[in-house]
Amino acid sequence: MTTDYPNDATPDRKTAKPAVADAQTQRALARVRTALERRNGAEAIRFFKDAVAHGLIREDEALLVWLRQAMGDDAAEKLLAAYARLPCFYCHSGVIPCEECNGRGHDADNRPCAECLALGVDRCGFCGGSGWFTINHVPGAFRLRVMARRVAAAAKEAETLLAAAKVAVSPANLREARKAAAKTLLQGNRLLCVLENMRLAATQAELYQPDSGEIVAKIVAACAKLSPPLSARVHELLTMLAEVAALEAAAAKRSSSRRMAEARCEFYRHVVSSRNSATTLLAHPFLYREDSGTAPPAKPADTASESDTVSEAGDR
Ligand SMILES: [Zn+2]
Ligand SMILES: [Zn+2]
Repeated sequence: MTTDYPNDATPDRKTAKPAVADAQTQRALARVRTALERRNGAEAIRFFKDAVAHGLIREDEALLVWLRQAMGDDAAEKLLAAYARLPCFYCHSGVIPCEECNGRGHDADNRPCAECLALGVDRCGFCGGSGWFTINHVPGAFRLRVMARRVAAAAKEAETLLAAAKVAVSPANLREARKAAAKTLLQGNRLLCVLENMRLAATQAELYQPDSGEIVAKIVAACAKLSPPLSARVHELLTMLAEVAALEAAAAKRSSSRRMAEARCEFYRHVVSSRNSATTLLAHPFLYREDSGTAPPAKPADTASESDTVSEAGDR
């Protein structure tokens, strides 16, 4: 793979110097760098995409190498970090109001909404529930490193979530306990969404990106390590929601409220006991697929395939 990345039509091939950006490109990069220094990642990315759109920067497999030379390692890392932290434009923290129940948590007959677990919110379809800018819109040359950063951030957040004290349920704190359980359940599920999305994207990247094996192996291993305790915590929280609903039913003054609480309790208990959340926002079919066990995938051979079987290999 070439490390030379001339950005104009007449590259100087006689000199073996690193790629040098022309004055216009340097001005564009300076704007990106200034935005990064101001810690305005979204603006830096906007400037960067502008420069790409104007043909000043070419998005190809050598982009990151070129950028490190043209901007410096530190600024390039900051740009990667900005991409990793860019939120989804469509949702807040990976969730949107549930379309099945219009955000009410139950249907017209007051039965709990299975899709959203009676919580009223569902996973965002744009970001797959991760809350992050979709990885397919990140320049191809940046993706693996952005994925690694997202997985590292998710691991840190998971550690905090798993170490947090559990709220005890009592008749005196039902509202707080229900809110806390729902909030933590959605946080845990968002982390599972991040892991699932990154695992899927990493294993796809491995097909077309040479030298990706080490990062892919780390991502797959992190998913294998973090997913079971997070899933277990999510199921504990469903049990907690069932406990809350049982106490709410016991305390209900109106029969309609009591019946709704009983239905929620029964529903949560069923999801927990059946271990089947395939039809809910907790479904993660790609988290535990085939090679997600303890053995990391083999390092790629140096016969890196230029396969174009993955349609999202490039951004175009
Ligand atoms: Zn719903
Ligand atoms: Zn989203």
